[in-house]
Amino acid sequence: MPHYEFFCKACKKTFSKIMTMAEHEAEKASCPHCGSQEVEQRWSAFSAVTSKKSA
Ligand SMILES: [Zn+2]
Repeated sequence: MPHYEFFCKACKKTFSKIMTMAEHEAEKASCPHCGSQEVEQRWSAFSAVTSKKSA
């Protein structure tokens, strides 16, 4: 399941959400702290990188 990270511009907190691709397309994320939709998506590095360790 994809994990999305967001940063709230209103209260300057980060939060993460687990949602399906379809949910992500359909709904605008809102901040669980203040309810603002002034959120910006952060792509977390670990979701792109697998468990492969660097040599
Ligand atoms: Zn907020």
